[in-house]
Amino acid sequence: MEKAIYPGSFDPITKGHLDIITRTSAVVDHLIVAILENPRKQTLFTLEERIEMLRLSTAPYPNVEIDYFGGLLINYVEEKNINIIIKGLRAISDFEFEFQMALVNRKLNPKVETLFMVTNSKYSYLSSSIVKEIAGFKGEIKELVPPAVYDLITQKFRHP
Ligand code: ADP
Repeated sequence: MEKAIYPGSFDPITKGHLDIITRTSAVVDHLIVAILENPRKQTLFTLEERIEMLRLSTAPYPNVEIDYFGGLLINYVEEKNINIIIKGLRAISDFEFEFQMALVNRKLNPKVETLFMVTNSKYSYLSSSIVKEIAGFKGEIKELVPPAVYDLITQKFRHP
């Protein structure tokens, strides 16, 4: 059984993230989308809000589970018997850091493979920061986030 994890901050989830989730869920048996909880990192959305947005967006995919973890990714991976780590690549600039992380994780556990999913060219420019930047200035983000969470995200900017 192929059990994969797609880790990230998802602050908030974008259509780029959802595209990676959709394509991964089609090629693995089970996918855990997990929020890396880092108390040192300031996020706009709370952990609960980010979990809720991931749940709403991935509701159509029965083999996708939402979770969160703190600390080392590889410890969580071992605890859950995961054998694949999925990373999304938008540009060469994502590659250098992800390449280093993949090598570190292989060193820590050689049985776990990191697989890179190349972005859909439609979303190669898209990041959570871009969504926050545009929404912060009252720009339209309808094309950028999953329809299921559009209202939740825009509300946050109306009543921060
Ligand atoms: P972001 O980089 O958007 O702030 P995250 O830290 O939540 O988001 O990213 C989680 C993962 O999703 C990373 O592997 C990142 O490279 C990938 N990712 C983010 N946006 C996209 C996109 N538009 N296309 C492909 N992969 C993406």
